[in-house]
Amino acid sequence: MSYPRVALLGLGLIASSMFWAMKRAGMDSHVTGYARSQATRDTARRLGLCHEVCDSVAEAVRDADLVVLAVPVGAMGELAEAMAPHLKPGCTVTDVGSVKQAVIDAVRPHLPEGVEFVPAHPMAGTEHSGPDAGFASLYDNRWCLIVPEGASEQATARLEAYWQALGANTERMEVEHHDLVCAVVSHIPHLIAYTMVGVADDLRRVSDQEVIKFSAAGFRDFTRIAASDPTMWRDVFLTNKPATLEILGRFTEELFALQRAIRTGDGQLLFDYFTRTREIRRGIL
Ligand code: NAD
Repeated sequence: MSYPRVALLGLGLIASSMFWAMKRAGMDSHVTGYARSQATRDTARRLGLCHEVCDSVAEAVRDADLVVLAVPVGAMGELAEAMAPHLKPGCTVTDVGSVKQAVIDAVRPHLPEGVEFVPAHPMAGTEHSGPDAGFASLYDNRWCLIVPEGASEQATARLEAYWQALGANTERMEVEHHDLVCAVVSHIPHLIAYTMVGVADDLRRVSDQEVIKFSAAGFRDFTRIAASDPTMWRDVFLTNKPATLEILGRFTEELFALQRAIRTGDGQLLFDYFTRTREIRRGIL
């Protein structure tokens, strides 16, 4: 099921992919778009992204039946406040943020009565960002987590059907659990990738040229995601503190155990650990 009028706020990788996926699905929704910077709006117009790229958030959301907040998590509250007076009664607001509790806390207080908020998080992305990074198949067979948190069954089911039409599978999740799951499968892996690049850069005895030349040996695959947008990732860590600190604590405990095994020559521990984790990893396609 689609929405007659959709407003995409923030025209980066996630929103532009939504637009192309809507087009591919043959949805006849009228799509308006808004991004804060003139340069992004100009690029969006040049790419034919959205049916109408608006110069103000008010204009973009005015008649929308679905409003999608697709900006960095730290900008959601401010954007919600700016758009709130212009929302059509009965419309649904959703978001695509990588953190859910902080977004709910930042957005919900601004929404007028009669407007439903159904938070969502498509578990799909690349290390690229901006309006020209999007593509129609980004969500194919990927999960979109829906965190209904107070939304009506009707609004939730309609948003699920929308994401399914974009190619995604949907699953409902409780907010705290969402933030913990994402800390494990996405947030801490990004932090570790960023850290590994920082370590390589800091290590003067290995030159940048050597890192590039020999990077096929793990470094290239492992650190691909460290090319991701710094604003987005800064906001993720600032807004998902409890879960990321918990998983980071567990990660460093395991790392110290492995460090000790290396130092003491405990090959059995290393072998058992790698055997167990290889089995788990092989189960992930
Ligand atoms: P992006 O950097 O590609 O795009 C963000 C867009 O928001 C840009 O067009 C920028 O101009 C605009 N913007 C920033 N602040 C704004 C503001 N205050 N008002 C209006 N526009 C503003 O980012 P993205 O990858 O599309 O991420 C968008 C959201 O999706 C983030 O909340 C992120 O956590 C979430 N998300 C990202 C991924 C991923 O892998 N990239 C995956 C799932 C969810």
